[in-house]
Amino acid sequence: MGRKAQTLSVLGSQFQKSEISFRMKAFYSDRFVLPLPNGHRFPMQKYYLLRERVQAELPDVELGEAPVATDSELARVHAADYIERVATGALDAREQREIGFPWSPEMVERSRRSVGATIAACHAARHGGFAVNLAGGTHHSHASHGAGFCVFNDAAVAARALQAEALQRGEQKPPVAIIDLDVHQGNGTAAIFQDDPSVFTLSLHGESNYPFSKETGDLDVALPDGRGDDAYTEALSGALSTMFERFEPVMLIYLAGADPHIDDRLGRLALSVEGLARRDSLVFSAAAGRDLPVAITMAGGYGRDINVTVDIHLQTIQLAAVAFGARRDSCATDTLPSINFI
Ligand SMILES: [Zn+2]
Repeated sequence: MGRKAQTLSVLGSQFQKSEISFRMKAFYSDRFVLPLPNGHRFPMQKYYLLRERVQAELPDVELGEAPVATDSELARVHAADYIERVATGALDAREQREIGFPWSPEMVERSRRSVGATIAACHAARHGGFAVNLAGGTHHSHASHGAGFCVFNDAAVAARALQAEALQRGEQKPPVAIIDLDVHQGNGTAAIFQDDPSVFTLSLHGESNYPFSKETGDLDVALPDGRGDDAYTEALSGALSTMFERFEPVMLIYLAGADPHIDDRLGRLALSVEGLARRDSLVFSAAAGRDLPVAITMAGGYGRDINVTVDIHLQTIQLAAVAFGARRDSCATDTLPSINFI
């Protein structure tokens, strides 16, 4: 790298040393609630319940409100006419049905904030190792249409934001891996990055679950109905090894869906709360072993008891906070954590 590029890299950094917090950051967007008809199955309340639990039970986590993702950030993934139709309320009835939400200005604001939170979590993770979006994981969203409660694809937009910002700083394009452990396939993400070798998409999902027509990602592991903790752990462990043999990411975006749980209404797998902890730990220790930053999103969770869904999400954040603390403690307090893209 030339001298000029190094200078740009320093000046372009979004985080100066004095701004670095040694508490793990988590970004929330639950103030932005969209109106839904009575009986709608989307658990809107889980987001504020989760933030309240984080606030009450995890004082080492620093909460921040999600910023808004701009049109130009969204346009790195989404078609300009789709962004425009979402923004102006010009989605037709079929498009709104496929998304599963009726259009409203609040829907637009919430969708932008949810993407902004994942971008912010990626920025924070680069300098602390782990950071969280208390929503996000909208992986059914494609470049030019939404689906399955997903308007914009937060992980895809965040991956492209990181890459664009690195290029602007004069760095190489950073390879990013998206590890999608929501019970539903990350079909939108897989389609978006199908011809992009700089982003690896791994999805472990229920083979007979929505979306019924799957896309081809870089590594898809489709599990039969009813698979429990041991089978899941074995499949995940193998998938992570395969991914790291084939791809060397410098950043992970992790979709930690709560919906593989046995009591999930939309799940079809049979993981216990402990099994989901093993899942998260496998991802976090794989990341820690390679000194990789991880931005974590919550993704799906439709438990018969919403408190169980919130427990599972909280557990993920708790495990991330422990991993964050371990990484922080291994860094000398007067130096930056040694996490760089190149
Ligand atoms: Zn899901």
